[in-house]
Amino acid sequence: MNDRYWNEKIETMPRGALRKHQLQLLKEKVKFCYENTAFYRKKFKSAGISPENIKTLEDIQKIPFTVKNDLRDNYPLGMLGVKLDEIVEIHVSSGTTGNPIIGAYTRSDMDIWQELMARSLYTTGVRKQDVTHIAYGYGLFTGGFGFHYGAQKIGTAIIPVGGGMTQRQIKLMKDLGTTVLCCTPSFAVYLAETMAKEGVNPRKDLKLRIGLFGAEPWSERIRERIESELGIEAFDVYGLTELCGPGVSIECGEHDGLHIWEDHLLVETIDPKTGEVLPVGEEGELVFTALTKSGLPILRYRTRDISVVKTEKCACGRTHSRMMRIRGRSDDMLIIRGVNVFPSQVEYILMGFPELATQYQIILDRPEALDVFTIKVELTEKTLQFQVDLNALKGRILEKIHNIIGLSPIIEFVKPDEIPRTEGKAKRVLDLRSGKI
Ligand code: ADP
Ligand code: ZN
Repeated sequence: MNDRYWNEKIETMPRGALRKHQLQLLKEKVKFCYENTAFYRKKFKSAGISPENIKTLEDIQKIPFTVKNDLRDNYPLGMLGVKLDEIVEIHVSSGTTGNPIIGAYTRSDMDIWQELMARSLYTTGVRKQDVTHIAYGYGLFTGGFGFHYGAQKIGTAIIPVGGGMTQRQIKLMKDLGTTVLCCTPSFAVYLAETMAKEGVNPRKDLKLRIGLFGAEPWSERIRERIESELGIEAFDVYGLTELCGPGVSIECGEHDGLHIWEDHLLVETIDPKTGEVLPVGEEGELVFTALTKSGLPILRYRTRDISVVKTEKCACGRTHSRMMRIRGRSDDMLIIRGVNVFPSQVEYILMGFPELATQYQIILDRPEALDVFTIKVELTEKTLQFQVDLNALKGRILEKIHNIIGLSPIIEFVKPDEIPRTEGKAKRVLDLRSGKI
């Protein structure tokens, strides 16, 4: 047995066998949905299809998409695939607009979730002897519990700290010899900043070696910063409540995309505007079908997350396809003076300047006819100390932004700590344009 894998047979299964396995599961799940949910039965009927029409994996394209509003409209329990007495746990995602999204799990869904999270953690190198600090929110969110269940299955010592209490978290990491940190990338940045302020040197005072960061978009440059400031290897982890929470995909040691656990999920990429299925390798919106979930079964779910999927075998030996780092959400894409801009592009450019700290905010307004695009970004203490020529710095940043995005924003430098921090997902964009002409 190779100790690189949690489940070698499945993780390295030849793609042909994996696809065959998927087809078998797909047929069963389609039938299950048709027989057990009024929602899918209606959807199938309106599309003029029945489960017998799904004979190949490509036939999935006959099934209409499921979208976030379907889940909202069927709130709270309208899409359950089983009776409530078979549900053993329910999670709820924030839902900033309208009804929240429910994740309902049967015993078997819980076992699968735990297995996939154990597999994900193991893939990044987490082992039984580790001490795992979980600073994702516990409670209704899927984050804290997802990591908790996975780490528990591996048998690491878990510190279920949840959100908040930053100073206390650092003390605990120090005192308990934490080796694995799980939190949002923005919280990792905040932890690193707070450590620097408190005179804690992660390389000397802590035993951290691995970080699993996700739940929000982040860039390669932020990875470089977190890795160098905390002295760890950072991994991207992806998931959403609609599918199980974290555990959908994970980066391996090659850091060349996140392996999607295809023995439980089927992925497609579509054009977010037309809904047309794109050839493998083209950038588009990810659409997932949960092949084994029954509490709240879901077929062809439009995530709105933009990425590229690669199916070539990875150098790590795993055959499960990889999704590249999420570029943004189709609904996060900003249109500024007619130009499409993802906040992650702005972040990538900013973080290439060591004079800038990691906190920034994009502010959009339309006081008159034209959009006004402002980027507020914090300088580092060092930049202030060494009296860097700020006008020249501004010029270099503007040039980069203009070359890459084609726009010339107003750059506003602020002192370290001036931009409010969040302990959960970061809020990077303040769009004040709505309702203005
Ligand atoms: P959670 O509570 O796990 O954050 P949500 O369902 O509230 O789950 O949010 C899921 C969404 O968060 C995804 O659809 C995606 O937009 C975003 N997300 C999650 N992980 C990542 C990641 N690694 N990179 C970029 N975005 C992510
Ligand atoms: Zn790999």
